[in-house]
Amino acid sequence: MDSKTKPLDTFNTFLFDGDGVIYKENSPLPGGIEFIKLLQKREKKVFVLTNNSTKTRDEFKAKFSALGLNLPLESILSSAYLTAHYLSTEKSSARVYVIGEEGLKKEFVNFGVEVINRNEETNEEDIFSLNMDNIDYVVTGMDRGLNYVKISRAVNILMSYKETKFIATNADFTFPTVHGLIPGGGAMIKILEELSGRKVEKIIGKPNSEMFEIAMELSQTNKEQMIMFGDRLETDILGANLAGIKTCLVLSGVTSMKDLVDLKDDNSPDLIMNSLQDAYDSFL
Ligand SMILES: [Mg+2]
Repeated sequence: MDSKTKPLDTFNTFLFDGDGVIYKENSPLPGGIEFIKLLQKREKKVFVLTNNSTKTRDEFKAKFSALGLNLPLESILSSAYLTAHYLSTEKSSARVYVIGEEGLKKEFVNFGVEVINRNEETNEEDIFSLNMDNIDYVVTGMDRGLNYVKISRAVNILMSYKETKFIATNADFTFPTVHGLIPGGGAMIKILEELSGRKVEKIIGKPNSEMFEIAMELSQTNKEQMIMFGDRLETDILGANLAGIKTCLVLSGVTSMKDLVDLKDDNSPDLIMNSLQDAYDSFL
């Protein structure tokens, strides 16, 4: 641990990324669940800030519960939830075409956002069978069911209707699985940008400030007493640094030692640990 940095016990609010930090898919990573349980026992505040857009908050709560961790719904800040909240406040009954998984669509529906491709048929002969008029937003998130028809529809909407806004839940290029990295939400953005000639207009997830601001508001804590644990430099670490929150990079996800040679000031972590096991051990 960096000797200049205060021990973890001086913090009272702990922010965690999910994938690559607490778990990879459904497998817990070393020390994560144990560390968070210990924090809860010591009455520290815990928030999960995840760019993962594939689940509703309820589904995340259930996922944590299956891992043996009880987290209140309010402490789970996901990019799907924040995007749903954003769309519902920007425009009442917004009509949206979604490149994303069922959890994202479900979260939109929970907020009264109209998902025009809720139960989408993707027969190649029938690309234009969907009514694509008057769509307010095309929204992207990681979509493991992405296919030619969905890409064609999203690109057609973006090219045909300049007034339709192009929004992304997150821009993470990769997603860590137990077998290795696969394309994440950022890859969906790149595909649509390349093919439509349009640029994404807003990205909701980290490193943007929204999630950090909501965590600060809910925790009622000074940012000096908050620390963010993340595995991705350009989202978790950069975002927390920009928000003035201390950072700890864990090497259990997408970043490895060799990625640390060309760190820039704004994505340099205050601490580096192999996994949350180190945090747990130092906190006992
Ligand atoms: Mg991560």
